[in-house]
This record gives sequence, C-alpha cells and structure tokens, in this order.
Amino acid sequence: MTDPVFVSAALFSWYDRYGRDLPWRRRWPELAPAYHVWLSEIMLQQTVVTSVIPYFLDFIRRWPCIEDLACAPLDDVLAAWAGLGYYARARNLHKAAKFVSEQCGGQFPQTVDDLLALPGVGPYTAGAISAIAFGRSSVAVDGNIERVIARLFGISTPLPAAKAQIGRQYAAIMPDERPSDFPQALMDFANAVCTPKGANCKSCPFAGYCKAFAAGRVEAFPIKPAKKAKEMRRGIAFVARARSGEAFLIRRQDSGMLGGMLAFPSNGWATRGERFNCDAPLDAAPFPAKWQRLETRVHHVFTHFAVEMEVAVAVITSPTIVALNASGGDWKMVRPTDLPSLMRKVWEVAQTAVADSH
Ligand code: SF4
Repeated sequence: MTDPVFVSAALFSWYDRYGRDLPWRRRWPELAPAYHVWLSEIMLQQTVVTSVIPYFLDFIRRWPCIEDLACAPLDDVLAAWAGLGYYARARNLHKAAKFVSEQCGGQFPQTVDDLLALPGVGPYTAGAISAIAFGRSSVAVDGNIERVIARLFGISTPLPAAKAQIGRQYAAIMPDERPSDFPQALMDFANAVCTPKGANCKSCPFAGYCKAFAAGRVEAFPIKPAKKAKEMRRGIAFVARARSGEAFLIRRQDSGMLGGMLAFPSNGWATRGERFNCDAPLDAAPFPAKWQRLETRVHHVFTHFAVEMEVAVAVITSPTIVALNASGGDWKMVRPTDLPSLMRKVWEVAQTAVADSH
C-alpha cells in the first residue's frame, strides 16, 4: 500500500537536493511568472530541456512580457521559433498571447478550465501552469510523470486508456503543501532516476512502495498500446540558386505541415495521399530549369510519419524573370536558422552538391 505522505516527503527531499535549476523556475514559496511557465511548457512539448533553454532565453529577451509577444509580427515569432519544430506551437503561442493580452488584460487565467481556452494549451499544460505559476492543486501529468505513476502503482491498463487512472493516482499522492514544486519535482525525478530505460531504482527513495520494482518489471510500465509502423512518405525538394548566392524560397501556407514557415518548393510529402510521381519527379518543379537530381536523400521523422526526400538543384542565371513566372516565392539569402529542420537538411545536401561541383 503506497503511503502518499511518505512518497511526497521523500520526493521533496530528493528534489531539494537534486532538482534542476532552470531559467523559468522558482522554488516554493516563490512562484515563477505565468508568462515564463507557459512559454517554457509550450516549448517543452516534444522538445528536450537542453534544446529549449536558449530559445526560452531568446524569447524573453526579445519579448519580456506577454503584451510584447502579442504585438510582435507573426513572422518574427516564427523566425525565432525556427529549429524548435512543430510550428503549429509557435502560431498557437502567438494567438494565445494575443488572447491573454486583449481579452484578459494581460493576466493569465489561473484555473485549468480557463487555461484550456488558450490555443495550444491541453490538459497537461493547463494543469502545469495552474500548479506551477499559481500554486493551485491541479493535476499535471505529462509522459514522464505518467511513467513514474504507472510504475509506482503498477498500472496494468495500456495507454491511453490508463490516463484517467494515472490522473487519479497522481491526485491521491499530491500533497497540500508546495503545490508548485510537486509536478516539477516529479518531472526531474522522472528525468534523472525513473528514466525510460535503466531506471536507477537503487537510489529511488520510494522503491519500497513501487509495484513495478517489486514485480521486477520496471521497463514494462507504462504499458504501451501495440505499435503501428510509421508511414513512410516520399517527396522532392527543389533548391534553385542564383549566381549571386540567393536561393528561391517560398512561405508555406499557414495550415498544414511546416505551416507559415520559409521553405524550398517541394512536393509529395506534406499530406497523406499527396501525389508524388516517382518516375518523373521533376514534373513537380516550381519552374523550368536545368534541374539536377542528387543521389543523397534527406531523411526526416515527424511524429506520425517519416519522409525520404529527394533533392534537385539548379543554378539560375536570370532569377528575376524566374520569380515572375513562379507562383509565390522570392529570392533570398538563405539563413539556415530561419528554416525548419527538414528544410535545413535539404539545404545542407544542396550545399554539398554545390561544393562537390567546384
Ligand atoms: S523504484 Fe524504480 S521504477 Fe519505481 S518509482 Fe523508483 S525509480 Fe521508478
């Protein structure tokens, strides 16, 4: 039988010793600004802490408060986000900043229900903001915390059906004191001790209560649903270079993959069932040119599918004329940091081809 008081006390004593110092974090009874908590939580969705830190610092330097972010042009926000991936998050971030700034007088909502009204904020993020920024006893269970709870209580229902039970068990061990520290302590503990592989159960302060440990089946939890093979899509990207060094770039449509981002024209990969003519891929070129298909392919994995991208390059002598003929797009000097990861890889491959041809 798990003793909730013992578990939370042991967790806090571990956290006080080993918890991470992160730029968006404060220790109880101090509370971090809701703007910082929200920004970091949105960035941390699908992205690791070490990658997020420089982006977080850059965002709060450029836009010190939510009103500043709300007033910023979306293009600037997307450019600052480039490289973090999952660009819908950046667009939602901007929408939510406008909402808080314009509809809530710049004050973040505090309850989970009100926070859920913000674009890009789901149940975990709402619970985390409510607990961490406002010290409320809200349930905040992300994938890492899910793992700790599922192991501790030996929850045998597979995910995602187990989520409700995991939420109830979280609430059962949630203490009355230090509500803002509790989810953060669990996150750090999940990251440092109760890791997906090779959990350090020997140094776990509540190993004596852990059902998965007792059963010798730590890595079996949480029970995952049977895996489906990831869909593989094929496509082609076109990198046209002018002799002046500029390249032809488009701004992708706001909706869909890499929405609103700068990109090289491409075809065949962004939507399920999109037509890609493997026999004549150059038919999809944005304009006529001496396109050269490269042997090196770009591989990239998104959450729900993987892409194998061919790259075609061309050197254009009269870029102005081409721009008039192409639908949308412009000639620009390429700054890889403005491109999403897939397109950065495309650019790297295209660069290698240019280097090889010299
Ligand atoms: S005993 Fe191991 S599996 Fe159980 S909570 Fe501790 S670290 Fe996680």
